[in-house]
Amino acid sequence: MDVIKKLAGWIVRQEQVYFLFGFLFLVPNIVLFVTEPLPVIVGIASLMIPLAVWLGVLLLARKPGLVVWCLLPKVILDGGQLVLLYLFGESVIAVDMFLNLTSSNASEASELLGNIFLVIVCVFSFYVLPVLWLACHSVRIREKLTAAFCRKWGAVSACLLAVGVSLCFLSPLQDHRFSLKNDIYPVNALYNLYFAINKSEKNRNYHKTSADFSFRAVKPRQADARREVYVLVVGETSRAMEWSLYGYGRETTPRMKALEGLVYFTDVITQSNNTHKSVPIILSSASAEDYGVIYSEKSIVTAFKEAGFHTAVIANQKLTGSMIGAFYREADTFIDISAMVAGSYLSSPHDEAVLPYLQEELDKTSGDLFVVLHTYGSHFNYHERYPQEFARFKPDKAKGIRAAYKEELRNAYDNAILYTDYFLDRIARSLAATYDCTAMLYLSDHGEDIFDDGRQRYLHASPIPTYYQLHIPYLIWFSDTYRRTYPEKYEAALSHRTTPVSTNSVFHTMLDIAGIETAEKDTTLSLACRTFTAHDRMYLGDHDNPVPFWKTGLKSQDFEMLDKWNIVYSKE
Ligand SMILES: [Zn+2]
Repeated sequence: MDVIKKLAGWIVRQEQVYFLFGFLFLVPNIVLFVTEPLPVIVGIASLMIPLAVWLGVLLLARKPGLVVWCLLPKVILDGGQLVLLYLFGESVIAVDMFLNLTSSNASEASELLGNIFLVIVCVFSFYVLPVLWLACHSVRIREKLTAAFCRKWGAVSACLLAVGVSLCFLSPLQDHRFSLKNDIYPVNALYNLYFAINKSEKNRNYHKTSADFSFRAVKPRQADARREVYVLVVGETSRAMEWSLYGYGRETTPRMKALEGLVYFTDVITQSNNTHKSVPIILSSASAEDYGVIYSEKSIVTAFKEAGFHTAVIANQKLTGSMIGAFYREADTFIDISAMVAGSYLSSPHDEAVLPYLQEELDKTSGDLFVVLHTYGSHFNYHERYPQEFARFKPDKAKGIRAAYKEELRNAYDNAILYTDYFLDRIARSLAATYDCTAMLYLSDHGEDIFDDGRQRYLHASPIPTYYQLHIPYLIWFSDTYRRTYPEKYEAALSHRTTPVSTNSVFHTMLDIAGIETAEKDTTLSLACRTFTAHDRMYLGDHDNPVPFWKTGLKSQDFEMLDKWNIVYSKE
């Protein structure tokens, strides 16, 4: 309290308060000036324009503290922006950040919040609270800003604004097209908030905007009319480099390595590092190049349904409210495990919990069957993702997500992969035991950072991805019967093992494996077809725009890893 009293003693005049607010309001801009790769001219404008605006706005009341109280949402936004900058070291609050606030389930949020709680407390104690205290102090000081002071600083603010705006016109000199909604904080953060609200509105209206859509999907019968069963397993937060199948030093995927009929693809890059953007691409004909169709078309579940398959979705992630949930509700049967396990809002069952339901679907239906299994894979908190008997790599109990616990985190992460290996093997065995014509496609929605290099990055869904979040495992297992029935599809898949692939191929590959015909199917995107063509791989930008994945802001450490894992990208 003494410190606060002393501080209050020093700050006795409204003019001092005014300049302090001018500085404090600019703190996020100053940090962004250092972290964002803007050309110098635009960088300077990104400081001058907001400074000019705030110096002007603070003059609207003779006690600047009153203005600050009116701008309370800005002060809170600044706090959030500073938390983000601390966590990721760069970027303005992205659309996905706003959307994740509303789409994460209780368990996911509690796991993450527990870890960033300290950061939030620090930012609020060192930024938000001091600003608000100063605002109270300003209101309490009897003195007011004089008319002469307001005139003088009003003129200064206008001049600064004029210079800042002129600098924007010079941005083409540095090969940059200036845009208020991208380059100036907080306009960019607010635009992202607007974009996010607009997007959740579109999500909410999906059932209306897609109501009249039909794939007109058909499946020509085979000669011997065998039952066909296809399973799509949507993985979570698994990175290819952690699978021994892909060459990782530890034996994390021995069962997949030994599985006959398995084809795995080595050069796969996800189109988004965010579950809520990546999975809709996996489940529909949408892609980073054409994301908007998720609102006008239906999902792969409907395509199979139209083609005469019984469809079932069994999910071990809470997906209500997201596009993923809307897609899953198209199925004949939708089982949400996370909603069924009573009293466990703060933890999720292990992925095996979906298997009895899969078996039930296999047993109770006699016709063709399509099942989507949505797993929790190796999502943080890693050591909660597997039963004790899979704790092969130890110690695996990290006390928090900090670089000091990297060994424990990596061990737990590897154990989770070992468990995924077991889980996939069990599905393949269940399918093989039916002697039906069956196949299973597995891929992860994105990867993960686990304090891998000097950047000390962790988790995923950051505004700018890393190699570790992009390179994912992707595999297809074809049963014995399938390989005998459709040898050409199995052979085609084998021939594409090292072809550059993205997550937008899943929809087309899955339909092609099942022999479903629809105008929406593009065989140049089917890994089970000889005509598969390698495309420049796009990444879905924050405003749902396509960006070549190597131009998303990857750093030298990422390119080193891309080269190490033979990932193809344009080196121009
Ligand atoms: Zn995910």
